[in-house]
Amino acid sequence: MSSSTSSSRRSITPADVDALRSLLAGTIRRWSRAAEKPAGVVLVPTAVEQVAVAVKYASENNIDLAVKGGGHSTAGVSSTDGGLLVDLNAKLRGVTVDVDKKLLKVQGGATWADVDAAGVKHGLATVGGTVADTGVGGLVLGGGYGWLSGQRGLAIDNLVEATVVLASGEIVKASEQDNTDLFWALRGAGQNFGVVTEFVLRAFDQGDVWAGIQIYPPTPENITKIVNATNELYQPDANGKTKLLGRGAGGISFGRPPPAGGQVVIIVAIIYFGTEHEAKSVFKPFYDLTPLVDTTALVPYPNINTLLAPPIGFRASLKGLAFALPIRPGFVQEVLENYVEFTDKNEDARTSVIMWELFDPAKVVSSDTGSFANRGWVLNGIALPLWTAAENDQAYRQWARDVNELFKKELEAQQKLNGDAKGDAGPRSGKGAVLLYGNYDQYDERSKDIFGENYSRLQSLKARYDPKNVFNKLFAVTPQA
Ligand SMILES: Cc1cc2nc3c(=O)[nH]c(=O)nc-3n(C[C@H](O)[C@H](O)[C@H](O)COP(=O)(O)OP(=O)(O)OC[C@H]3O[C@@H](n4cnc5c(N)ncnc54)[C@H](O)[C@@H]3O)c2cc1C
Repeated sequence: MSSSTSSSRRSITPADVDALRSLLAGTIRRWSRAAEKPAGVVLVPTAVEQVAVAVKYASENNIDLAVKGGGHSTAGVSSTDGGLLVDLNAKLRGVTVDVDKKLLKVQGGATWADVDAAGVKHGLATVGGTVADTGVGGLVLGGGYGWLSGQRGLAIDNLVEATVVLASGEIVKASEQDNTDLFWALRGAGQNFGVVTEFVLRAFDQGDVWAGIQIYPPTPENITKIVNATNELYQPDANGKTKLLGRGAGGISFGRPPPAGGQVVIIVAIIYFGTEHEAKSVFKPFYDLTPLVDTTALVPYPNINTLLAPPIGFRASLKGLAFALPIRPGFVQEVLENYVEFTDKNEDARTSVIMWELFDPAKVVSSDTGSFANRGWVLNGIALPLWTAAENDQAYRQWARDVNELFKKELEAQQKLNGDAKGDAGPRSGKGAVLLYGNYDQYDERSKDIFGENYSRLQSLKARYDPKNVFNKLFAVTPQA
């Protein structure tokens, strides 16, 4: 937005045109190719004031507005068909570290790789994405789970301040001191309230981590032993304490990784925030199973967010699953059979993954910050079909929904068994929201179900901060004063 002086003026070269083309292609790119749409106009801001001008203009002229953070939503909510796209990820992704205060100041388009790289230089880390290429923006504004959640809660529990461009174009700060109601709304329903151009996140001392993956053949015996060992570690006791005391995390997945020659395998991720000696004792049942592959080692913190990164360049549909402990080995076997059948029959979907994510939920459950309404003693899983041909979009998305149904039925059966099912409404959090992480389910659930009893307060805040509903793409909240 600066004009060139005559001394700096020069002719446009073919290299300039190529650079512009590649910048534009990058702005339209999304982690899932199925989430890309042709924007009418693209703004690549380098400063918050530029974002403010664009948002005000879109707002006043009723132009469809999309905001791209890391571009990982598979539901297309950071894309616009013909409208105005503000791509924060292209040039607004700096991270500065306040070492004394242990704060990370993160621009709105940064990825977790940017944050991890800046933090590790000072021995610091915060709760962030388990896949480093994911954006900070969408992940934090929708809650934010990470491998550190067992010790530090959600990403929103560690958000100290946000700089926000409101629908009016006004630039404001939100924190526990400033615009406290906006700050509450941002922490869970954030995408509805403005463009965050800077997040200030609390950071913690963090050294190397014992982490890696182990690969096992998917035999019934392995499934039973892995599931039983997992239950033993992650199941809270009557006081809500687990054996791991927040220090362990990981996951159990089914996949067909290329190194396994496309065979179905169980992939167990092991992450332990402690010494090798402790880790080997805590995770002994897994080591005793003699995995086919074991990459566990002491690694720098950023490495743990690359362990399970799915390949980039596919069409994809992230679908959230919810499960409670103890996991039933027979259920895992059923899911395996479903996975094998789907990936056997659909060559184009061979790279797909199903995963149970594991961490100690006690810390997340004990916090209550923000408008996020899905905290509970359930953990998240994902069904992630990955494919290439657009003609398969519907069928493969449907498969992910079917897997979600399997998990829902299992959770309902478990809760009935425990006598805490809530009638026909299905499993709900203490705030009346569905037990499903919204950021893992950006198309099927309704906003009222995601925000539960917080929805009506969000509606009145929406009437104040975004009365024309300019920010309406993800779990939209209808303004109501
Ligand atoms: C491979 C993969 C791994 C994942 N891992 C995790 C994980 O470990 N933990 C977890 O909690 N979630 C995880 N997720 C889910 C993730 O939180 C959501 O997909 C999230 O929407 C991604 O944010 P983004 O900025 O990359 O996405 P985008 O597609 O850019 O944006 C998603 C939404 O957020 C809005 N948005 C983005 N940035 C801003 C901003 N600065 N200001 C205002 N609005 C903004 C967009 O407008 C859009 O509505 C993962 C997803 C994928 C695909």
